[in-house]
Amino acid sequence: MDVDVIVVGAGPGGSTASRELAQRGRSVLLLDRARFPRDKPCGGGVTVRCAGLLPFDLSPVVEHVVTGAQIRHGHRRNVARNYEGVLTYMTQRRRLDAFLVERAQEAGVEFRDGQAVTGVQQLPSGDYEVRVGDDVHLGRALVGADGANGVVKTALGFEHPREAAVALEGNIAMPNGMPSWLEGRVALQLGLVPGGYGWVFPKGDHVNVGVGGWKAIAGPHLREWLHTLCRDYGFDPASMTGLRGHHLPMVRPGAALAAGGAALVGDAAGFVDPLSGEGIHGAIASGVAVAPAVDDYVSKRTATLASYETFVRRELLPDLAASHALMDIFHAWPTPWVWLMQHSDRFFLRFCGILLGTETLDHLVHSFGPLTPLLHPVARGGRAITTRRWGNRLVS
Ligand SMILES: Cc1cc2nc3c(=O)[nH]c(=O)nc-3n(C[C@H](O)[C@H](O)[C@H](O)COP(=O)(O)OP(=O)(O)OC[C@H]3O[C@@H](n4cnc5c(N)ncnc54)[C@H](O)[C@@H]3O)c2cc1C
Repeated sequence: MDVDVIVVGAGPGGSTASRELAQRGRSVLLLDRARFPRDKPCGGGVTVRCAGLLPFDLSPVVEHVVTGAQIRHGHRRNVARNYEGVLTYMTQRRRLDAFLVERAQEAGVEFRDGQAVTGVQQLPSGDYEVRVGDDVHLGRALVGADGANGVVKTALGFEHPREAAVALEGNIAMPNGMPSWLEGRVALQLGLVPGGYGWVFPKGDHVNVGVGGWKAIAGPHLREWLHTLCRDYGFDPASMTGLRGHHLPMVRPGAALAAGGAALVGDAAGFVDPLSGEGIHGAIASGVAVAPAVDDYVSKRTATLASYETFVRRELLPDLAASHALMDIFHAWPTPWVWLMQHSDRFFLRFCGILLGTETLDHLVHSFGPLTPLLHPVARGGRAITTRRWGNRLVS
């Protein structure tokens, strides 16, 4: 097939980029190796700030609406915090991703599932040749939205994002309905996993339980910590189904995100938030951002996709960098932060602002005033402390 743009990968990043391009009048071929609907390892939490990037309502695939959290630090007691409105929508990726692809198809995107891309190359003409087995497709431009293990970045020589974190999740059926303490709330367990946390997310007829943290330290212990999390919240670990793990790719500041007429979005580029593990926002935000740049490139108004990189460096990367530093500081000295989250309304409301999109982490760290320049050095020290502390704990 010969089109303006080929998008490889139909997760939230690829379906958003392709829909936005089709809405601009571009012919778009969206390819995914999986047969849809397909699942993927993910908690399926979509923050209000993320949902707000979409020009349609997610209600048809929202299984639970979250307005608060039950926060626990280590094995200490739970503290429940409630917000006056919605903070996060709980979805299942199987349903969410199929829904987003349907919206792209409605906009005119040609979607083909069960199509594993095996090769990508730029031709001397500047066009991109994309191979699926013996089939060859041609596009003026190419978007790599093929996730953490995608082929596009490798084929075109882009740097691979860091595989700094890893997460493991599973589902537990709730045949008698949601326990009342989880109605409208997520449970977050802090201090259980180095560089991350454990969660219980309420869905329609089940809960999603998971743990995620630094790959180097947490990776080999995730299964054991997921069992601990289940027991701590009164669930039988043996009742978990669909256990799946995956890493969370994180971009290196300065890494190229576009070259010629090709760009990376979402996990392929490494736009996962280090502190929360939220990646659907980065995927959709970059999918939205890449479309005008690719549209200008295809219509020859510009000769590069530099405007996409500029946007990402200005709008997305400062937040991810702030999140990375705050994560290192939080995990080295968690107690005051957890206390503030549990007991300070002002602190909790600022945190809610981040989920709502009315506050950004970059803005938050700049509000530290003269202390802001200390953020990254303190974070580096914090990471060293956490690494040593967990190293000792796991050895003894
Ligand atoms: C355990 C876990 C829990 C998480 N929980 C959350 C959460 O609650 N909220 C949140 O915001 N984020 C969460 N994340 C992160 C989130 O899942 C990702 O950041 C998000 O899916 C990125 O979307 P994407 O569109 O970039 O890539 P993906 O959703 O990974 O989609 C990539 C697509 O590319 C396709 N593909 C790959 N290779 C090829 C190929 N060769 N040819 C064709 N197609 C290909 C795949 O089949 C896939 O459909 C979690 C991650 C993990 C691991």
